[in-house]
Amino acid sequence: MHKENALIEIRIAGLGEGKNEIDFICKATEFNDEQLTEAGFTGDIKASFLVIKSESEIAVTLKTATTAELTCDICLAPVIRELTGVYTIHYVYGAIEEYEDPDDADYHVLDRNAISLDLTEEVRETLMLSLPMKVTCTDNPDCRLFITEKEHERLDDHEKSSWHESLEKLKNKYR
Ligand SMILES: [Zn+2]
Repeated sequence: MHKENALIEIRIAGLGEGKNEIDFICKATEFNDEQLTEAGFTGDIKASFLVIKSESEIAVTLKTATTAELTCDICLAPVIRELTGVYTIHYVYGAIEEYEDPDDADYHVLDRNAISLDLTEEVRETLMLSLPMKVTCTDNPDCRLFITEKEHERLDDHEKSSWHESLEKLKNKYR
């Protein structure tokens, strides 16, 4: 599980009981992952960890914050977005069966002899999940024009209006 020279790693011996706050600043290129660099993460990536250590587990809440250079889905204009993501992972000492109702959080079994937590993959995943499904311009009038035209062309709008028309005709008939 533990890789040599992990990019984002928390040493367990350095953690105190209770709350610990640890911040990392890194770049997408340091992950050596094409998917991440191609996604448009060009700025500094801030990964903040709230680590709560107890007798039975180490609970890690990870928050990512960065700016990404994206492109508008409609007009392909560049769009800069502030992206944030959150992910919670529980590293549990001992058997996982005791924790059968894990909400949405991830549970991992942690070896008592483990030296550190490699959170590189968790940060990478959180970044990818923070990407918006749809990207559109906000301050581009040309792009907005395009959207309205497109919406007018929608079939169900036509259907709705013709249905409305026939209803009106029907009403007039029985007047
Ligand atoms: Zn656009």
